[in-house]
Amino acid sequence: MTLESLDTGLAGARLTIDLAALEANWRDLAARAAPAECAAVVKADAYGIGIGPAVRRLHDAGCLTFFVAHPEEGLRARTVAPDAVIYVLNGLFPGAVDVLADAGLRPVLGSPDEVEAWAAAGRARGRPLPSALHVDTGMNRLGLDLEEARALAGRADLLAAADPHLVMSHLACADEPEHPLNGRQLERFRAAAALFPGLPASLANSAGIFLGADYQAGLVRPGVALYGGAVRSGRPSPMMPVLHLSAPILRIRRVAAGETVGYGAAETLRRDSRVAILSVGYADGYRRAASAEDGRPGGRVAIGGRVVPILGRISMDLMAVDVTDVPGACRGTAVELIGDHVGLGDVAAAMGTIDYEVLTGLGLRFQRAYLDET
Ligand SMILES: *Cc1c(COP(=O)(O)O)cnc(C)c1O
Repeated sequence: MTLESLDTGLAGARLTIDLAALEANWRDLAARAAPAECAAVVKADAYGIGIGPAVRRLHDAGCLTFFVAHPEEGLRARTVAPDAVIYVLNGLFPGAVDVLADAGLRPVLGSPDEVEAWAAAGRARGRPLPSALHVDTGMNRLGLDLEEARALAGRADLLAAADPHLVMSHLACADEPEHPLNGRQLERFRAAAALFPGLPASLANSAGIFLGADYQAGLVRPGVALYGGAVRSGRPSPMMPVLHLSAPILRIRRVAAGETVGYGAAETLRRDSRVAILSVGYADGYRRAASAEDGRPGGRVAIGGRVVPILGRISMDLMAVDVTDVPGACRGTAVELIGDHVGLGDVAAAMGTIDYEVLTGLGLRFQRAYLDET
């Protein structure tokens, strides 16, 4: 077993983001979805990996259409992709009309009020401003319901002024292929899309792409799969890992059997142990739910490829791991928190959550390294 050492400078851990893997994942999804166009969802700072580097890389690879959640994110994407089509999923924030119009960002209009407001903005400027229409097919969140969509389809003047270039909906259960809601949503989506002939249609998120051609329509909107996340509930991800998180050991201490580790004395050591301390905690997004306590193991990490358990509760800025069985581990030895031996999905499972929440919860204190930045 070769143990590597790691120097993270002023930070407690290093987050390495593999942009070549991001691009490979996009190309993989684009090939699965062809002839549909493959866009990229880069909301929430590109699921935590950094919206600037992610958009730049995907745009260079040929991605022409991006989706963000907030106008602010749209502005950040716009600075690195001046000619890309950028849709704002959460729609038209009342105070954001001018900013969207000026930056050429397209709101995904999700209610009759938003359609009216965007059409009015276009009229006021003397030219229609492009948008997308969101139709709700079963999520019951944002989007026009079918009645509202029908009413809009009957108003040619309003429709022309709101200038939609895409009609879209969002699947609630795409990560469960057998779920009956998928088929119901597809049926309703087809009915909605038929109201707007000539508009490209979009239904599939990452998991939706894997439901097959019926769901891929004219454009697909993968998010989590680009970043290496799973596309099927409870199954390992078929994508390349994009993100690696490692921390150097800060100190090792010998602790006798019968002693406890960390807050609440939640875990009692059952053998004389070597305990390694890492400068990573829940303030870094390594959630407390992955703590260990007597009778309930917590998350795991890997050292030199060997997987070892977390000991006791995860603190705000520190955590302890068991290196009793890794004799060569010492101060400075690299510990993999997310990577090849402990995957994103393993970490999410230990935290009782999903890949999305681990990615978007990753803290801001890590040293960041982008691999293969062009
Ligand atoms: C977040 C989001 C996506 C991307 O979903 P993933 O499951 O991450 O692929 C697509 N469409 C909409 C409307 C979204 O909100």
